[in-house]
Amino acid sequence: MGIAVYNTLARAKQPLEPLEPPKVRLFVCGPTVYDLSHLGHAKTYTQFDLIARHLRLRGLDVQYVQNVTDIDDKIIARSAERGVPTDALAREFEQKYLDDMQALGNTSVDEHARATDFIDQIVSQVQRLIDGGNAYELPDGWYFDVSSFPEYGKLAHRTELAADDAQSRIDHNPLKRDQRDFALWKRPKDGEPTWDTPLGPGRPGWHIEDTAITEALLGAQYDIHGGAVDLIFPHHEAEIAQMESISGRAPLAKYWIHTGFLTLSKEKMSKSLGNFFTIRELLEHVDARVLRFFFLSHHYRSRVDYDPDMLEEAAAALKRIENFWLRLPDGDDGPPAPEAERAREAMLAALDDDFDTPAALAALYEFIRKQHRAERPAPGSRALLETFDAVFAVLPRAAASEGDDDWITAEVERRQQLRGERKFAEADEIRDRLRAMNVVLEDTPEGVHWHRELPA
Ligand SMILES: [Zn+2]
Repeated sequence: MGIAVYNTLARAKQPLEPLEPPKVRLFVCGPTVYDLSHLGHAKTYTQFDLIARHLRLRGLDVQYVQNVTDIDDKIIARSAERGVPTDALAREFEQKYLDDMQALGNTSVDEHARATDFIDQIVSQVQRLIDGGNAYELPDGWYFDVSSFPEYGKLAHRTELAADDAQSRIDHNPLKRDQRDFALWKRPKDGEPTWDTPLGPGRPGWHIEDTAITEALLGAQYDIHGGAVDLIFPHHEAEIAQMESISGRAPLAKYWIHTGFLTLSKEKMSKSLGNFFTIRELLEHVDARVLRFFFLSHHYRSRVDYDPDMLEEAAAALKRIENFWLRLPDGDDGPPAPEAERAREAMLAALDDDFDTPAALAALYEFIRKQHRAERPAPGSRALLETFDAVFAVLPRAAASEGDDDWITAEVERRQQLRGERKFAEADEIRDRLRAMNVVLEDTPEGVHWHRELPA
């Protein structure tokens, strides 16, 4: 069975058929680096990280590009407030974004492309739109003429702005021919950063940054464009209008994948955890793996109404998986038992079906629940968990060093040596520390044996 994805462009689930298999060219709208990333960003990028990981696990050669919007009205406004140059501000928050993504395990992006590194490509795109009759000039810059692209609205299935659109990104100007027209190239105001180009001085509009970057790195047409659902209109619609007008080829991206909103139940948040809206604030209080698992336990398209209690549920569920993982013997445990193989296939089939993480986890939970009743885990359990973690990436990295069998055996030997030296307090400390890791020591006539145990 192949992979199916829900394509916003078609309003339907479709088989994923890459343009040039096994290559999959994936672009996801990246951050505007003027402030700390918040929980909505964490949700979007963690869910796309899982998507990229699953496609790779399934043998596809994913080229994953994200843009970094490092010149923009918000950046200019914030740098004026702070009295720092726009590029210094942008670099600071870009680094913080990358650190946050690293903390969350979102490591599947191949290239982060800064808009300011693509000014030549942006200018070239604007020039081609002017030459094709898709752009007109006003005193404050060049605008895209929406009336020149009859298919405008085909992604969003609408052409007018709605109340919940990103209003700050609409380029207000009463001189525009149509209020839906958007800026391609903005003339500099006093003190604003500007580039001297064949178009004259100025800086790029927001939407053209993405199409210039994707044309340069992925081509005029590519496989998957992703982003949060609030970017569909007008941002993604504008990208389509620009690139398809330039190339004369459609679609710009064959599949459009959008993640659902994260909403915050603010009252509850302030009661228990304070207002931790940014990733780094929350990570001072919550294990990054728990936050990651929380996002991945929801289907990427569903809306999540965030409530701190949900993190406790996610922590408990992740703990159950971890405890099972710690029970498993190291290394090859022989040919997989049919139930382990069935669970692995069910998990992969769920992920193949539009990245259905709740169904994938349900298959895993069912298997683990049955194994708890068994004396020892079924052969194939380790392979199942390794497959799970290749996509979810939530199991503790420390398990490989601090929790591995050689390390435990060495600790047990150290304890024996201390006991031989009658240093019982130190020896007991080792026993207690291992106990805390659910490793139980048994003193027998043949020496000390140890085994892993689930906590009571
Ligand atoms: Zn974008």
